[in-house]
Amino acid sequence: MRITLDRLLDSSTPANRCLLAVGLSVPFFGVFWMANGVAFLNAEVARGVQQGVLLALQAFLSVVLLISAVMGTWLWPRRGLPDRIPRATLLVTFNIGLGYLALVVAAGAFTTGMSLVLLGVLAVGLLLFSVGTILRVFIVCVLIHACQDGLVLLGWLPYAPLLNEHAFDVGGAPTWWWSLWQSAVFYVGWAIILFLIFKLFTRLDGLHQQLAKLSYTDVLTGLANRRYFMERLTAEARRYVRAKTPYSLILIDVDHFKSINDRHGHHAGDEVLRRLAQVLIEGVRTPTDQSARIGGEEFAVLLPDTSLAATEIVCRRIAEVLRQHTFSVNGQSFHLTISMGVVECRGEPIEDALKQADRNLYKAKQGGRDQAIYSMATEVAR
Ligand code: GH3
Ligand code: MG
Ligand code: MG
Repeated sequence: MRITLDRLLDSSTPANRCLLAVGLSVPFFGVFWMANGVAFLNAEVARGVQQGVLLALQAFLSVVLLISAVMGTWLWPRRGLPDRIPRATLLVTFNIGLGYLALVVAAGAFTTGMSLVLLGVLAVGLLLFSVGTILRVFIVCVLIHACQDGLVLLGWLPYAPLLNEHAFDVGGAPTWWWSLWQSAVFYVGWAIILFLIFKLFTRLDGLHQQLAKLSYTDVLTGLANRRYFMERLTAEARRYVRAKTPYSLILIDVDHFKSINDRHGHHAGDEVLRRLAQVLIEGVRTPTDQSARIGGEEFAVLLPDTSLAATEIVCRRIAEVLRQHTFSVNGQSFHLTISMGVVECRGEPIEDALKQADRNLYKAKQGGRDQAIYSMATEVAR
């Protein structure tokens, strides 16, 4: 249960966070709407006085709020950090808050009940969005509500314009055409709002995917970046626990790259890095292999489900492709060599695997460059 919840909150995009916010806040509204409806069906309450029903309604909403507050406290440490699209989340939470406010103001509300509904929205919002966002929305909604209360008290606004005396016939019973009209407005209104919300969600999801892609991509080469590589490596270490199949890690550092920069300029160096990325993409064939640029002129390749022996073949192939490749930048041609540190992993902590691969890379450099040094992630290099 806890793991499922963690996963749900961690993996949720801003869009389905918003959807969840709408979904979770519906019960608050439902409770208010039902209780309000029940109260108004009663002719006594329709005239505005029945302390028992009023108190019961408020007590009911208090319990709902209490439950939501307890749930909120329990869920708070488990929620993922809100994604940073503040304007979009602000817009959605405003929609939720203002939507409730409009319906409640139009249908008539007792101040305490109304505030409790808003508090419910607040509790739900806090689970899903940042404190700042939801507080801004809450303050605006409360201010609007206070203004409405003031205007009603001054007699400048009718109380509950949706529920006036037309709703009841002479005997105090609700009239059928009134119910029909009210339901029609209610459902058509919600259909339109839902359509708009889903439009907004689609756009938010698009934005989120775009952002996610940007945050995982190295801008210079278009390869995956360090962050993405570390995530893949972590996932692979986790997968080992179940699958028990070894995977391999190659760290690559370009030999004498500084001299390329010095001789041909920084732009030429960048161009070389881009072409090297292409060589790497072509060198690792299976789509499951992950190459990435993890530093200035440092690259890495993760080969899931691959032993050291099979990785050796891949490294030879990459080195061979590179040896055959002539880099030509600004009319000058040259060749490039790389050094590699390679380890076969069996679920070791990723820091240990990286440290050992780095040690192997260092040995490759010490041994004269243009070579690969292999070992198990937990063993001494050979
Ligand atoms: P070694 O064989 O020992 O690795 O020699 P090296 O010259 O490659 O040494 P080192 O790895 O320490 O140098 C890396 C250089 O790569 C230093 C830095 O100027 C250059 N570099 C790092 N990032 C970039 C980049 O994005 N573009 C360019 N053009 N150069 C970069
Ligand atoms: Mg380096
Ligand atoms: Mg180097």
